[in-house]
Amino acid sequence: MEYSPKKMQEHLDSESFHLKKQFGQNFIVDENIIDSIIRKALIDKDTLVIEIGPGAGSLTYKLAQVAQNVLCYEIDTTLENILKTNLKDCSNVEVKYQDFLKADVLTDLKKYTYKKIYVVANLPYYITTPIIIKIIEDKLPIDKIVVMVQKEVGDRFKAKPGTKDYGSLSVYLNYYYEVQKLMDVSRNVFIPKPNVDSIVVSFTRKDTQDKVLNEDIFFKLIRDSFNQKRKTLKNNLRDYDLDCIEEVLKKYHLDLSVRAEALSIEIFIDIANALSR
Ligand code: SAM
Repeated sequence: MEYSPKKMQEHLDSESFHLKKQFGQNFIVDENIIDSIIRKALIDKDTLVIEIGPGAGSLTYKLAQVAQNVLCYEIDTTLENILKTNLKDCSNVEVKYQDFLKADVLTDLKKYTYKKIYVVANLPYYITTPIIIKIIEDKLPIDKIVVMVQKEVGDRFKAKPGTKDYGSLSVYLNYYYEVQKLMDVSRNVFIPKPNVDSIVVSFTRKDTQDKVLNEDIFFKLIRDSFNQKRKTLKNNLRDYDLDCIEEVLKKYHLDLSVRAEALSIEIFIDIANALSR
């Protein structure tokens, strides 16, 4: 595959392909940036990579050189011819033309053998949160997630309680994953050029199984607590055993008038475990 903005544009034009804003299509055209992402992701021949949104395949082509297999989900079916041409030499790549958020990934994984699974993706900002939440809530066996996202989205990943960026995503992520920034990426390496720069972040799975007694209760509690961010816990959790929750909050000198955004991960775990007993 050849990497240059000109070559990419020529190929897209020859297939009469128009980049689609509604799918967040900004394609990377800088080979050095792609090589750096691949190097920092530490992928090897025991790794099955799931790529969400291969686009024209610039990242996919390089992933195929280092990984055992690459399983891609692409929502835009009109990319099929372009991907077929660009990935014609990559026998270890499978592309499923469907919305990743609706995919039955666990079933799709059954035909693969692997020692570890990494998700690698250059994501449109509006689906970053639902994708990470899907990975966690569907209990997909993902060891590491490496995502390129707009700088502002990246800030939310490490947000602390009480800040405006703190939400269900921050609780999930910091409970399950070690969050690390890998590199900055200039807006100039994409076509079309977006209005903001990006960063590449990695999430490496932590061994946290013992802390939460019942994950389903924990997930539901987080979802419901942040349901309406400006509402108090009492209002968001009407159907819960509020006496039990109040008992836990007392230990932290808090009551039911608190908002979810003020609660640390430890307090959420404590409440979820009290509700599980
Ligand atoms: N990976 C390519 C690259 O880096 O050049 C393309 C990245 S582009 C920012 C995002 C890609 O995700 C697009 O190809 C878009 O069609 C695809 N996409 C958007 N929403 C998706 C979804 N829900 N499921 C699967 N793919 C999606």
